Amino acid sequence: MKVGVLALQGAFGLHERAFRRIGVAALQVRTASELAEVDRLVIPGGESTAMSKLLDANGLTAPLADRLAGGMPVLGTCAGLILLAAEVVDGYPGQHCFGAVDMAVRRNGYGRQSESFSAPVDVRGWESAFPGVFIRAPVVESAGADVEVLAELAGAPVLCRQGSAVVSSFHPELSEDDRVHRWFATQQ
Ligand code: GLN
Repeated sequence: MKVGVLALQGAFGLHERAFRRIGVAALQVRTASELAEVDRLVIPGGESTAMSKLLDANGLTAPLADRLAGGMPVLGTCAGLILLAAEVVDGYPGQHCFGAVDMAVRRNGYGRQSESFSAPVDVRGWESAFPGVFIRAPVVESAGADVEVLAELAGAPVLCRQGSAVVSSFHPELSEDDRVHRWFATQQ
């Protein structure tokens, strides 16, 4: 299995490290030909507006939309969740959202950078809480009936799955806990 980590901007290096820790090969993806080589993709945290523009600049917008439409397993964390949502309530004009997960999100909904926080996240079926790190995280304001909500924080979904897309509003790569990466690596 070859996991790609979109490496245009943001926290891609720590995702690669997490996959290496669990024995899964991870490649950086910056071009359409690199995207074509991978079986699944991580869209990391960072800045969704910048990543959206860089997808255009690197000729990746249409190839990524095609792979998502084809059911490629994808993990979107924080800015990655924003890019995979169906609607960005307060996005900038022209900001891409690929609609892999039927949810409406609000960027920076938990507050500014200085209001970033850590909180234990109780994931359905997991034995202990996952250490969630929320950095200018998006709030999921609504989720459609096809979205499986695996964890919530204060009533808002923070870890969800729809089909082969998994999204978290927190940064799982910022802890030493690899359960999100292990779980994603098993998604069909
Ligand atoms: N607020 C950022 C955005 O809008 C996301 C922050 C993050 O990924 N840590 O893209």
